[in-house]
Parts: sequence; C-alpha cells; structure tokens
Amino acid sequence: MTYDEDRQRDRSTIDEEGLAQPEQNSAAEGEATVKETPQRPPEKERRFRQTDLPEHFIERRKHPRIKTEPPPPPQPPSFEDYKPIIGQPEMDEIRFLARRLQGKTVKMVNSTAVGGGVAEILNRLVPLLNELEVPTRWEVITGGNDFYEITKGFHNALHGGDYNLTQEIQEIFLAYNEQNRQRMQFNEDLIVIHDPQPAGLIRSKPEGHGRWMWRCHIDLSNPHSGVWGFLKPMVEQYDAAVFSAPAFTRQLGIPQYLFFPSIDPLSEKNKELDESYIDKVCDDFGIDRARPILTQISRFDRLKDPVGVIEAYKLVKKYVDCQLVLAGGGATDDPEGAVVLAEVMDAAGDDPDVIILNLPPWSALEVNALQRASTVIIQKSLKEGFGLTVTEGLWKEKPVVAGAVGGIPSQIIHKLTGVLVHSVEGCAYQLRYLLTHPEFAAQLGKNGREHAKENFLITVNLKRWLLLYQIMLGVAQLSGTEATP
Ligand code: UDP
Repeated sequence: MTYDEDRQRDRSTIDEEGLAQPEQNSAAEGEATVKETPQRPPEKERRFRQTDLPEHFIERRKHPRIKTEPPPPPQPPSFEDYKPIIGQPEMDEIRFLARRLQGKTVKMVNSTAVGGGVAEILNRLVPLLNELEVPTRWEVITGGNDFYEITKGFHNALHGGDYNLTQEIQEIFLAYNEQNRQRMQFNEDLIVIHDPQPAGLIRSKPEGHGRWMWRCHIDLSNPHSGVWGFLKPMVEQYDAAVFSAPAFTRQLGIPQYLFFPSIDPLSEKNKELDESYIDKVCDDFGIDRARPILTQISRFDRLKDPVGVIEAYKLVKKYVDCQLVLAGGGATDDPEGAVVLAEVMDAAGDDPDVIILNLPPWSALEVNALQRASTVIIQKSLKEGFGLTVTEGLWKEKPVVAGAVGGIPSQIIHKLTGVLVHSVEGCAYQLRYLLTHPEFAAQLGKNGREHAKENFLITVNLKRWLLLYQIMLGVAQLSGTEATP
C-alpha cells in the first residue's frame, strides 16, 4: 500500500465511523479538557498567553537556552538499583538465570564504542552481565575511513537503498574484517557479533569452541539483494541470529530469535525527574505547562514527517488550544537535517505555540523533561526502525500517537497501549480525541507503561541474553529437577 492510499484509508475510516465532522461536539470538549488541566499561577499563565507574548518569545523559541558543553557522564547504576522498578521476583529470576552460567565467558563485538543505540545498550548491558558474574568482554573493531564509508553504504543498502557493490568494495570489507580477526582472540564460550560491520569475524569460529550469535539491530525486510547476497553466507555460519522485530528478519538456515530493543529506566533519558526540573526546562524553552503540550522528539529527517506533525497540529489547534514541541538534534552537522529544519521552521510560520528545538547530543535530561511535560507524545514516522522515542513515551506513561511503521506496531497495540495512525488527518483526529478524552488518554498511558515494562526494559533484554546463552550452551535443556536452584 502506498502512503497516499494509506492516507485515503485513514480518511475513509474516519468517515465510516462518522468522526470526520468533529466541529459540532469536540470544540466544547476541547475547552473542557483545557480547563481540567492543572492551572499554573495566574501571572505565569499570562506570561505565555498567545495574546500577551513578550517580544523576545519568538526569538527565544528559535534559539533556546541550551548547554553548550556535554555534562560529565553519570555514575552507571548497579543491578540492585533496578529492584524498585522491576520488583524482587524479577530480580530473583535474573539472578537464577545468571547463576546457571557462572564461569561461562562472553565476548561482544561491535563497530563503535560511543554514539548510536548499540553502544548505548552495550554500555549498560556489559557491566550488568559482569556484575551477575557472567564475565563479558566488549571489543570494538577498527577500520579506516574507507571501511566506514563502505559499512555506511551497506547500512543504507540493507535498508533498501541503491548501491553499487563492486569487487573492490567486497575485498576492502573482508580485508578489514580479516585484520581485526588476526588481532583478536576468540576463546570465550559465547561470542556475540553486532550488526554487519564485524560479521566477517565468523571465520575464527572453527579455531575456538564457542557458540557464535549474530545480533542484527537493523531492519532487513527489504535489503539490497547484492549486499545481502554478499553478507548472507557469513551470517549463516553463526549458530543463531537475533533480530529486533518480526518484520526485520530474513529467511535463514539458522535459528532466529526476537529481542526487542530496550531502554534503561535509570538512564538520564528515562529516570524519574523532579517536577521543579521539568518546570525549569519548560520555562527555559518557553513552553507553557498550563496548556496541553504535544511533542515529537526526532532527528530532523523527512521520514519522521515533522512537517506532517505541524499540519496535524494546525488541524487540532482549530479546536483545542495546545502547543507543539518539535525537538530534534544533529541538524547542525547533518546538511540534510539543516534543510529539513528550515522546512519545519517555514511550516511553523510565526505561530508562537510551535516550539522548535535543535538540541545538542548531550540533551538527555532535557529530552526526558520534555517527554514528561507532554500531554501527548507523537512519533508520526513514515518509515522507522524500532522507534525508541515511542518506547520512551510509553515508559513515561504518556499516550503515544505514532505511525504504523517499522517496529512501532510491536509497541503500540492500537487503542490499548497507544494509537496508530496512517495520515495527517488520522493523526489530527487522534490527537484531538486524546486531548478531549483525558481519562482514555490516561488509560493508554498506564497500559503503555506496563507494556514497556514487560517487553522493552534493559532488564528484559538482560534476561533474554541469559536465556539465549543457556539455549546455546544446552543448559536450558536440562531436566526440570536438575534445573531447580
Ligand atoms: N533523541 C535525542 N535527541 C534528539 C532526537 C532524538 O536524544 O534531538 C533520541 C531519542 O530520545 C531516542 C533516539 O534519539 O532515544 C532516537 O531513536 P529512534 O529509534 O526513535 O530513532 P532513530 O533516530 O534511531 O531513527
């Protein structure tokens, strides 16, 4: 189905349900909802009233106060710190699984130590595994610019992009893998290779005794046939492959497992925050907490459809007095991001209730505060990987309205843990519905948090690795009597 057909379908669904003419009833509902939201002190509210905006407001919206230096990294949490979040039984279960692996060694290999979701996960997962006495080493492969250019090309091609895979490119890729392989040892019991960049290390498998797993974090649903044809024979030498969503997999001659990506509830991005800090961040960015806040946090990328979000907001704004926060990053170092940011600014026009923030990469606390201040979180992607911003919104007990693409439908069960949309009009309709039905919105938030807790926390990810290790080593196949602690 094309995007246009999808839009049409969304409209017709709304029409069929008789919900396309909301003027008659929901304007009044909208007013009622706005009245129901907690009121700030009158002087503060006046400060941000659209009719009474200070001169510098619009300027500030475009150049908000932002830290110019990265803050020092926070102390990493220990396993025990997760107890108040996941509870004693879950803690015991994880400890039990880890105990059965004591003395078994693990090596994880990826292509970068900083930046990107994989490094973020490994930064938390590896210390936790070590704390649970499953000795885990994390190693990073090295390569020249030519290697990283090739692997970036592979990444885009595996997502369906065009690519000219020459003999020379294949040789460079294999040469760097071989160089890394020569300098690394693979004596561990379990070896986990992340993503395509180091996939060629599998050549070391016959030299050791370990079981090898390929953890693919990317969406392989529509890969470039040449690039996938080159990688597939390497992948099929592993003992198992792990993917992030059912839709991301390929037909393979090895067992496949599903591990959802995860978020860390104790990270700066997701930990609980004081209301006073949330107030401060909103004040700094010129956001009025007395009125509903719709938020999309995303790189300025057309596939995240920020302009579509503005269009949806404009439809909603006719009936409900609300603000839209579009916060993204990377627009300064990504030429395409800068173009999209300009398009977004243009679409926002001079509406002071559209707050556009171009945040530096060290804005985790600010992103956390913006998400927590939101009445509804939006992720109106047209194409998506897993969609971690959705997970973050669910975890913060927010109603989430998101495009039904990529890994988002694994997270949002329509009308139960959030709402799925296919068009600007569908998005506007759902936003307006949630703003005017706060009890339903609150219930979605509660269900969303439970769903995230059961499936998308780092502790769930940890448990899945421990289980997979047991399966790989045959420990999980012990009889019931032997398996008791
Ligand atoms: N993010 C951020 N600052 C920004 C934009 C995004 O910290 O300005 C974070 C966001 O909170 C999430 C991640 O970057 O944790 C984006 O992951 P997602 O899977 O949603 O999208 P991707 O950017 O990987 O396509």
